[in-house]
Amino acid sequence: MARPVGDLLRVRPGSGPVSLVDVDPRSTPGHDGGKTAAREAVAEVGERLAELQKQLYAEGRTGGHRRLLVVLQGMDTSGKGGAIKHVAGLMNPAGLRIHGFGKPTEQELSHDFLWRFDRDLPAPGYLGMFDRSHYEDVLVVRVHDLVPPQEWQTRYDRINAWECELAEQGVTMLKVMLHLSPGEQRERLLARLDDPTKHWKFNPGDVDERRHWHAYSSAYETVLERCSTDVAPWHVLPADRKWYRSWGLAHLLLETLCGLDLQWPRPELDVEALRAALADRAEGDAA
Ligand code: ATP
Repeated sequence: MARPVGDLLRVRPGSGPVSLVDVDPRSTPGHDGGKTAAREAVAEVGERLAELQKQLYAEGRTGGHRRLLVVLQGMDTSGKGGAIKHVAGLMNPAGLRIHGFGKPTEQELSHDFLWRFDRDLPAPGYLGMFDRSHYEDVLVVRVHDLVPPQEWQTRYDRINAWECELAEQGVTMLKVMLHLSPGEQRERLLARLDDPTKHWKFNPGDVDERRHWHAYSSAYETVLERCSTDVAPWHVLPADRKWYRSWGLAHLLLETLCGLDLQWPRPELDVEALRAALADRAEGDAA
């Protein structure tokens, strides 16, 4: 039997320093069938995802506390939005809660850094997706010295403690870093410039951010080393090939939902009495 994709991509908790250089962003762990086969596989997985998400929703509507939160991180243009579009698009949007997190507002900055993420957690039964997350508070914040080191250094433990509390409250977290190469990022930025319909999403600031690539990589490595825990492990998903990125995320999500061992709720219903009542009603209506 094929090895779970989660096993191939997971950063093993407590396994020491992580080196992103050791992971080829063009690799396709768990899939050797190429682009067309990957797209077909995503469509097939989609049917199962849709069913499992419906079961999660049904559980939440009948008193369950469980929910799922997908946390997506990655450099600019790594395809967080594309991954959400392709994978979330396979499920019922009514059961999804998708949030993107940009620069915090004045109001958000007046609170603890975790406040805005806690506020936007999915409710029981929902599948949430964070496009960027609380991890920006130890990534961009660290790279650009937005708070003093003695402050961001305490955040790794705070994040782990918060995620542990969330797990106790029924939140299963799937944390995925989309691992892009600087060369592929350059190609994607150039492609945006070549296409006037994509100029709106060209942020000139992304070009300057490329100068900090090494600092971001180091900041990501610290996150992966310190915050891949048993309750909320990190996964590094090679992202240079868009079709593999969607294939990988769909499979990670499927494996995570399967791990919840979801069942259809079985409320106490006197099915026979209800059928009989409906039959009476039908006769009454016809009279
Ligand atoms: P794409 O990834 O597709 O390029 P984007 O994620 O850059 O899109 P935006 O909403 O325009 O979309 O940008 C989010 C920006 O907000 C990023 O530059 C990110 O680093 C920044 N950001 C997120 N959290 C924080 C934070 N806590 N402090 C400062 N900046 C932050």
